[in-house]
Amino acid sequence: MHSYTLQGGGRMPALGLGTWKSAPGEVYAAVREALAVGYRHIDCAPAYQNEPEVGRALAEALAAGPLSRADLWLTSKLWNDAHGPDQVRLALERTLHDLRTDYLDLFLIHWPVLFRPGVAFPRSGNDYLPLESIPLLDTWRAMEDCVAVGLTRYIGVCNFNIAKLDALCAQAAIQPAVQQIELHPCLQQPAMLDFCQNRGILLTAYSLLGSADRPAGMKKKDEPNLLSDPVITTIAAKKGATPGQVLIAWALARGTVAIPKTVRPERLRENLAAADLRLDASDLAAISELDRGYRLVDGAFFTGGGSPYTLASLWDEEHRTGGQGLH
Ligand code: NDP
Repeated sequence: MHSYTLQGGGRMPALGLGTWKSAPGEVYAAVREALAVGYRHIDCAPAYQNEPEVGRALAEALAAGPLSRADLWLTSKLWNDAHGPDQVRLALERTLHDLRTDYLDLFLIHWPVLFRPGVAFPRSGNDYLPLESIPLLDTWRAMEDCVAVGLTRYIGVCNFNIAKLDALCAQAAIQPAVQQIELHPCLQQPAMLDFCQNRGILLTAYSLLGSADRPAGMKKKDEPNLLSDPVITTIAAKKGATPGQVLIAWALARGTVAIPKTVRPERLRENLAAADLRLDASDLAAISELDRGYRLVDGAFFTGGGSPYTLASLWDEEHRTGGQGLH
């Protein structure tokens, strides 16, 4: 399995398994099968409400052998209701309990968005806290403490815009190892890619297959369909590959980590095999033309209804959603 070397020498597998929307009842089998066919990296989060089942799969796979914990890369995330410095370690310990492990390889701030403690998902504006009420740096200091006591090897962020990431880097004692964001041919984020490459921050690409199984309420009309885009399907036909494999190979060719989600055994194998697919320079040039700055997971679910957050405050100047205005 191809991997990227992080500061301190840790090696992060370039391809992992996403688990958002993998239902309890499905995700156990998916994780067991993934480990059996060669995945060594699982992307988790308490917000996905399936960590206990992922943990059972991990524990039973490790007990069955021959894999050991050190062979795996486990990522999880801090949910929006636990940014308080006194909450961070407790939240991580809950995730470790659920995943049945002593440490994470990577612990990420899930969103630069705050909910009141105990709110899983807001029902009204009152369930939010403004971002200024718990500075991201205070949360980060508590994440750094988790590294110091060995509960996680690396820390990082998700869904930060460049301004937030730059401000964090300027004051962090431990630099973020990874930024996890939406990246695919219709949202290539070249400025973010440059910024992270210059700072030695590894980018992880989420929703890179188009996240078709998102809840209907998160979808917009006339979304681009990455898997049926003619540029992608033409390259797939030429290479004897599938469109999904082309999308994954594109992410890897850009030096980013790819975490496609599936619960289907045949797609687990298909997606993993994409690590061996090499795209031609002409393929990469054709795909680079597809960028529309189009966000599928645009964070609109954190705006409206009295929320202090707006799409503009989340994404700043980087925000464009296929012609829709800023909220
Ligand atoms: P993906 O882009 O990975 O797409 C998942 C969808 O693609 C599912 O419907 C899946 O169906 C289908 N699929 C999987 N493989 C193939 C294939 N080879 N060909 C055709 N369809 C395929 O979406 P996600 O949004 O889930 O993103 C991936 C992961 O990234 C998440 O699961 C999560 O771990 C992480 N993530 C992190 C976020 C963050 O804020 N940090 C936000 C969003 C995602 P099926 O399962 O039936 O195969």
